Amino acid sequence: MLTTGKTILDVANEHNFAVPAFNISDYSMFNGIVDVSEEMNAPLIVGIHPDEVRHVRSEMITAVTQRAHRSPVPIAIHWDHGANYEQVLTAIRIGFTSVMIDGSMLPLEDNIALSRKVVQTAHAVGLSVEAELGTIGATDGEAEEGSEAIVYTNPEDALTFVRETGVDSLAIAIGTYHGIYPANLKPELKLDLLKEIKEKVHLPLVLHGGSNNPDEEIAYAARSGINKINISSDIKVAYFMKMREVLADTKLREPLTIQPPCIEAMKAVAAHKIELFDTVGKASLY
Ligand SMILES: [Zn+2]
Repeated sequence: MLTTGKTILDVANEHNFAVPAFNISDYSMFNGIVDVSEEMNAPLIVGIHPDEVRHVRSEMITAVTQRAHRSPVPIAIHWDHGANYEQVLTAIRIGFTSVMIDGSMLPLEDNIALSRKVVQTAHAVGLSVEAELGTIGATDGEAEEGSEAIVYTNPEDALTFVRETGVDSLAIAIGTYHGIYPANLKPELKLDLLKEIKEKVHLPLVLHGGSNNPDEEIAYAARSGINKINISSDIKVAYFMKMREVLADTKLREPLTIQPPCIEAMKAVAAHKIELFDTVGKASLY
């Protein structure tokens, strides 16, 4: 069933697991992600970035929400990295059930003011809100927004932020980057910082840039206060690696012959994440 981010994440918070937010910008890939979530009886957050909405066009969101309505597992449609208040209004209008407002590059006071305004509007129409505090790195030009250097989330600021904004979940910076890490960059999560932040704020915490981190660290984070993990690069890499292989047969031209093996490759990676985050079977909790 179609539901809000808050409904999904509050249960994950209570039961100590994380829900994957898979970034989608292709209808066949979307169906593959819903299929694997249903096969594993796992709740799902479909993350769609404003740039991805521009690519797929807003009419696709209608189809996405209809599939979610019919699904036996809870699904939220989440606007990933809203850049400003006006974008959030677009998300509300076209059918999202959850929005992120990313004021993380602003000074704390401005981030609070913007996030609070978004919360007031989104809550008035039943959507939940994720905000971000601290900055996540970016590895390359294909990655989403991010800065070269990470600014770790300060636990005291996190408490102030949550109290003053009323957000439903908070994305924190504890050492991840958007994109795929180059060979010379060794990602390392500050798991003690995660613990400190969680003890202060108690609400569902979000990890961006969750692709490509060591499995043990991610699995630990998913059981220690992180309740949503954004996965974009990992599933797309799996899909297109397979597509390069399939397209070696230059006689192929039909999407319905080319795409299915690519979707299977993507589903295998998604299934691994669902297991890693301890999300298997958790749809029964809703
Ligand atoms: Zn992100």
